[in-house]
Amino acid sequence: MAASTMAQLHRRPTEHTGWCARDHRCGLNVHTSPDMYTDGPLGARGVLNRVHTETSDYAEIRIRIPINARESIARKQLGVALHLIRELLYAVAAVRPPALDHARNQRPALDRRPAA
Ligand SMILES: [Zn+2]
Repeated sequence: MAASTMAQLHRRPTEHTGWCARDHRCGLNVHTSPDMYTDGPLGARGVLNRVHTETSDYAEIRIRIPINARESIARKQLGVALHLIRELLYAVAAVRPPALDHARNQRPALDRRPAA
């Protein structure tokens, strides 16, 4: 515990990013974006923040999903929510830099026209 505390005391501050909130959401070496919201039915809301630390970058998501008062329906809703959260995790992880590198993925031979 003491070693962890000492490590935190010796961390150097990092510069704000181009997208971080530059307010109370940022710490010495953690930078957080402003909240990004999306709303759903019945008062549902998702809030996403982009976070940058010394060692990683990640999205932090909080979701409020109204569920039914009937236990059997609530359990099914929670199961669906958990399943879709898992799907979300895999879908986001599937987006890899090579998939976004359009220059590398161009196939010039497909654009070539036959010589006249
Ligand atoms: Zn910042």
